[in-house]
This record gives sequence, structure tokens and C-alpha cells, in this order.
Amino acid sequence: MRRYSSIVVLTGAGISAESGIQTFRGGGGLWEGHDIEEVATFDGYVRNPRKVLSFYNDRRRDLRRAGIEPNAAHLALAEFERNHPGEFLLVTQNVDDLHERAGSRELRHMHGELDKVRCQRCHQVYSSREDIEPSTQCPWCMAAGRVRPHIVWFGEMPFHMDEIHLRLARCDLFVSIGTSGNVYPAAGFVELAHQRGITTVELNLEPSEGAALFSEGHYGPATTIVPEFFARLRQT
Ligand code: NAD
Repeated sequence: MRRYSSIVVLTGAGISAESGIQTFRGGGGLWEGHDIEEVATFDGYVRNPRKVLSFYNDRRRDLRRAGIEPNAAHLALAEFERNHPGEFLLVTQNVDDLHERAGSRELRHMHGELDKVRCQRCHQVYSSREDIEPSTQCPWCMAAGRVRPHIVWFGEMPFHMDEIHLRLARCDLFVSIGTSGNVYPAAGFVELAHQRGITTVELNLEPSEGAALFSEGHYGPATTIVPEFFARLRQT
């Protein structure tokens, strides 16, 4: 393998599956028990704020369950970043905090974070692990009932897109890990990288929808294939 000077890694729910956090799609996935329109859109929130807030309160509490820890794949990415002499950006679609807990530093949550909330009145974003209720008061502007999860719902603009596009435009390796390639714009990152002719690698349990666009694919559980791939990359 050659040495790369600028790497962008995209992760999805698959990297956290072996840590005990459900993916969205697939057998036993979160969407099997919940209607996307109800719990992951702004309209759903306006229709039934209590239901939507309760869905995210449960997800936030899930992160603190005993045994929910970063796995070997999260740790391998953090270790690689610590030792990589060039640029490294980790973009995650995940709203959990397992990359942070593993020690990743150059990390962007494009779909938001379960441990952050924001006020729709004063737009302040702040860290909070408390449940949000329909009556929750913003500690900054004191408005009641305007606090929502800092999560990008379907139809909303993901975060950090300008920076992500800049990095995709100059990276020489793009690696996609544990994502089904169903949710845009993240699913389109490989197309941008492919058009530039750079090396694109998919690490997933099985080939994703966009598998044909990757120059390389390694398939199996993330805790096996991610440490293996990044160990090989370090040796170059
Ligand atoms: P997805 O559920 O659509 O797809 C998960 C992918 O991971 C699939 O391709 C599956 O084959 C693969 N996978 C499952 N187990 C794996 C394993 N052990 N090792 C390697 N790969 C495995 O997830 P996605 O593509 O990330 O969907 C996007 C949306 O899901 C995002 O909006 C994200 O915010 C949300 N999401 C996040 C979390 C989280 O924060 N952990 C959990 C569920 C959903």
C-alpha cells in the first residue's frame, strides 16, 4: 500500500453495531420498530414532540448503558490518527459518542450528536445528557418548550458540509466504514472521490449499494476488518 498524505474516513452505524448500538436498517434495526416520518423529521416533531423527544431520550440513555464502549474499530481509527503524519479527517454519520471516547480528534458529526441539544429560539447549542421534555427551559434564553435534540432530521441540512467537501476535494484516500450508502449526501462522497480517481475503500459487513464505485472492498465485522486495514496502512 502507498503512503497517503490526506485521508478522509466516513463512518456509519455499522461501526458501532458491535458496541451494542442498533443500526438503522437491516434485521433488528431501529427503523423496524419506528416510523421515520414520525421520529426523524421536523414535521413529526411538530405533530408529536413528546414522542420524538422520548425516542431521542431513549437513544441518549442507551449510550450510558453498562457495556456500551468503543470497540476495536473505533480504537483502531483513533490510534491510526495519532500516528499518521499527514491530514486525517473522520466524518461520522453516527450520533453516538464512541469515536470521542476512543480518542479521535479530527472528528465531525455530520448528523449531530445525542449529547447535544439546541434552542430553537436563541439557537444556542449546548451539551446535555438530561432528558428533554416538551416543557424543557433553555438555560441561555430561558424560553420554555423550544429545546430540541441537536440531530439532523431527514430533510434538514447536515453539519460541516463546506469543510467536508474541501477535504474530499484534496484527499488522496477515502475510506467508508459500516454505512449502507442509503442516506445522502454522505452516500455521494464516494462518487466525488471516484470522479477524482483517488483510492476509495469500503469496509463493511457486506457490499453496500454503492460498492461498485469503490476501488477496494473488505467485508466482515468492523472489529476485525478495520484494525486489519489500518494496521496494513500504517506499515506503508
Ligand atoms: P445503516 O443502518 O443504514 O447501515 C448500517 C451498515 O452497517 C450496513 O451496510 C450494514 O451492512 C453495516 N454493518 C452492520 N453491522 C456491521 C458490523 N458489525 N461491521 C461492519 N459493518 C456492519 O446505517 P448508516 O448507513 O449509518 O445510516 C445512516 C443513518 O443512521 C445516519 O443518519 C445515522 O445518523 C444513523 N444512525 C446512527 C447510529 C449511531 O449513532 N450509532 C445508529 C443508528 C443509526
